[in-house]
Amino acid sequence: MNNATNLVITMDGTCGSGKSTIAKRLAERLGFIYLDTGAMYRAVTWKALRSPVDLSDREGLIELAGKTEIRLRRGEEGTKVFADGQEVTEVIRTPEVTNAVKFLADLPEVRRHLVAEQRRIAASRSVVAEGRDTGTVVFPQADYKFFVDAPLEVRTERRFREFEKKGVKISQGEVRDDLEKRDHADRSRPVGALRLAPDGIVIDTGDTEDIETNLNKIISYIKTT
Ligand code: C5P
Repeated sequence: MNNATNLVITMDGTCGSGKSTIAKRLAERLGFIYLDTGAMYRAVTWKALRSPVDLSDREGLIELAGKTEIRLRRGEEGTKVFADGQEVTEVIRTPEVTNAVKFLADLPEVRRHLVAEQRRIAASRSVVAEGRDTGTVVFPQADYKFFVDAPLEVRTERRFREFEKKGVKISQGEVRDDLEKRDHADRSRPVGALRLAPDGIVIDTGDTEDIETNLNKIISYIKTT
């Protein structure tokens, strides 16, 4: 156990498996903080893009990340993200930020700093921590470690339907290739790569995308008292 009062639940997994939706809903259901580690990498990236520091300036990025104060606050509509006091929950989701995150996420010094922040957040509150290294690097002693996955074909089909709904023109093959590329990239990152923790519990969402069903599957493992 992590500590007598606070629980740590980690949620890693593949792209398009539904892990983010599940993590968010699980945190809401349990009344825990949704520790969205991706949002923290996004928040420092957002700040870097608005600063004079160039994305190729390693030292500059490390210094900037170290000086950025990231806060997560649980409100009526879920957990909100703040960078240096400014709410950034939505603005960190732009493709501009998505494409630039790797410049910070691949720097070991930036990861060390954010991992320390993630542990600080979890020291005083129960959390559902989501991100590719949460079960292996950030919280190896977590109370529960889930790894959400679904077969590539199922994830492709779901993503393709999402794109169709939004009116985005893209073929199934392109969606599949993109997911495959992302799986590979996540698993082979120089630091903080995605891999199943030895004591991780695999949740396969391939059979159903019904959130409640998948959520209940996860909750059946958890004892909160
Ligand atoms: O999950 P999300 O897409 O918001 O993550 C944003 C970026 O941050 C991704 O590129 C992801 O690989 C990176 N990330 C990371 N380590 C984490 C969580 C996210 O490097 N623990």
